Amino acid sequence: MKITVLSGGVGGARFLRGVHENLQSRPGEHSITAVVNVGDDMWLTGLRITPDLDSIMYTLAGVNDDVRGWGRVGESERVSAELKAYGVGWDWFTLGDLDIGTHLTRTSYLRAGMPLSEATAKISARWPLGVTLIPATDHEVETHVVTADVTMHFQEWWTCYRAALPALAFEYRGSESAVAAPGVLDAIASADIVLLAPSNPVVSIGPILAIPDIRAAVLSTSAPVVGVSPIIAGAVVRGMADACLSAIGVPTAADAVATHFGARSGGGVLDGWLIDESDAALAPILEAAGIATAVVPLWMRDLPLSSTLAGDALALAARLHGR
Ligand code: GDP
Ligand code: CA
Repeated sequence: MKITVLSGGVGGARFLRGVHENLQSRPGEHSITAVVNVGDDMWLTGLRITPDLDSIMYTLAGVNDDVRGWGRVGESERVSAELKAYGVGWDWFTLGDLDIGTHLTRTSYLRAGMPLSEATAKISARWPLGVTLIPATDHEVETHVVTADVTMHFQEWWTCYRAALPALAFEYRGSESAVAAPGVLDAIASADIVLLAPSNPVVSIGPILAIPDIRAAVLSTSAPVVGVSPIIAGAVVRGMADACLSAIGVPTAADAVATHFGARSGGGVLDGWLIDESDAALAPILEAAGIATAVVPLWMRDLPLSSTLAGDALALAARLHGR
């Protein structure tokens, strides 16, 4: 089975671990490709930082900090302290020493003329991830947030302001002229199943689908496209996605996010959608909107639960295959 997953960082990483785990127990050959958001990427202190690619890589490699929720386990911050002393970079944005090793490696590849997709392949080859990571695009498409007074990089709005400055709009800068990285369109077109991870709809999945040829590939693939709600019982599971959704006029609700993505039969990107048992009452609304809905537990509290959730997504896709 060929599975392609559109993904953000931490939420996407948990789900990808579940997909990988679930496929281990199934007979046959399987491959998983993650098409990863680059909207959070930025240049900082001369380094190219790619938070979502790194969150996935560290998680699948088992070297992530599960307690803190991001970065490397056993991390230290000596270099960051030096950068602060020099007044370089953002003093509220800490780069761990081990993490800086990854950024130095990536930046050296980019400076040697490699596209990000090739640099990512070389970097992630260090660990047996079981998932092929491809950035959505090799172009620098960065998300910016428009607030009443200033427009800033998403990372500043999210990390420095904790998403507390009301956002008026999100700009996926450069997305209109960007093209998919090598391998992305084929991974979507030739997949048996395309999954949308339970990632932030606005700043993780949104920037991927804003790249015109990726959106077109999702619209036209013969594979069923099934998404998992990042919203449970009207609330985000982790993070501040509600602040992003309200900025684009979408209520923080599992059905509203699905209808925001839209049914493929109506020009949107979804054939199926998974909602939590606590949202069971929303299923008829979604079915009426042309989105096949499965009601299952959506909390990925541990690897077995993530694997079960992935299995539920694959089951809904299998049900849709014959349609
Ligand atoms: P980021 O790029 O690191 O912010 O991570 P993602 O965009 O991939 O994922 C963030 C989203 O994952 C948040 O909106 C959460 O609501 C969602 N999320 C986190 N944990 C869970 C979970 O256990 N179950 C579900 N359904 N969603 C989750
Ligand atoms: Ca992210």
